Amino acid sequence: MRAILVGFSLAKSANSRIPAVPQDRGGRRVRHPAAGGGKMVLFTGAGSVQAPGMRARILLVGTLAAALLGGGAWWWWWQARRTPRLGLAAYEQTRAILALGPRPPGSEGLQAVRGRVRTQLAAAGWETRTQAFERSTAMGMVKFENVRARFPATGGAPWQGPVTGLLCAHLDSKWFKHEKFLGADDAASACGAILEIARVLAAERPGQARQLELVLFDGEEAFGQNITPFDGLFGSRHYATEWPPEAPKPRFGVLLDMVGHRNLSIRLPSDTPEHLREAVLAAAHKEGAGKIFGMAAGAITDDHMPLNRVGIPTVDIIGDFSNRSWWHTSADGLNNVSPGSLDISIRVTLRLLDGLLQEK
Ligand SMILES: [Zn+2]
Repeated sequence: MRAILVGFSLAKSANSRIPAVPQDRGGRRVRHPAAGGGKMVLFTGAGSVQAPGMRARILLVGTLAAALLGGGAWWWWWQARRTPRLGLAAYEQTRAILALGPRPPGSEGLQAVRGRVRTQLAAAGWETRTQAFERSTAMGMVKFENVRARFPATGGAPWQGPVTGLLCAHLDSKWFKHEKFLGADDAASACGAILEIARVLAAERPGQARQLELVLFDGEEAFGQNITPFDGLFGSRHYATEWPPEAPKPRFGVLLDMVGHRNLSIRLPSDTPEHLREAVLAAAHKEGAGKIFGMAAGAITDDHMPLNRVGIPTVDIIGDFSNRSWWHTSADGLNNVSPGSLDISIRVTLRLLDGLLQEK
């Protein structure tokens, strides 16, 4: 029986039917007339052992399988692109912090959160230390404890040399006498973001991790209603003054605060050092978040202020909390935070650090 096959030369079953490539006398290959130009070719083969219907079916099934595989790969790629992978991880860290309850300074809740955060950082390869101190407050003497972390070079001692930059947030939640205040976006979400950033840097950019110190401040929140020169910013004030005046200081600081709100709107304080303002806005633009990042109308009292005062230029990447009904109320629970918003803040921060840590 003589079978006539029509097919694409890339179909393996069809190609295998092409007779052996003839050679000239010098051993060089010559083009077989049946091979065509790699486009659609007409094969004529004698002595086929398969019925033509079977070949057509094999081709059809192969084509369908290839289409299904291609479609599946595309779907997987599209889902992977849409999934806020970093934000989901930070969201889970935020959830775990909130599960330990309110965490005002000196509380058991804060001690438990500190332990968990140190364990998470150590698991990612960071070395942690605490910086303990006491202050007289409206609540009497209170014990505070900042958490610091550095990433060790191979065989190196991370605490001996200087670092290039700081990445900070506050670990405490505001104390309320009668209210169970969790502070999901103020600022457990920022701590969750830093844990995920620390993991990514350690795994993917250890050279940058080694140039960074992570600081989780205690006592950012005031015991009274507002931060005053004597109330609030306890941890950052202590940390800043612990740098000896003559010691080489980090070249920059990045503070995260309220960076996971489901309706994310970041407003940098007006006192942001100019080069850091430009760097943050450029990083946001490159991450497609240019519309979410902007400038606040004025200065904002936060942990960046003591750092700026001792000569560590620091930007406060802070969510807009002006006129927000949830701020400093029990409404600031986990549902105030979204993985998508956390993902944006993390990606912008990673891009910002990428630029700042490559400058020498
Ligand atoms: Zn607050």
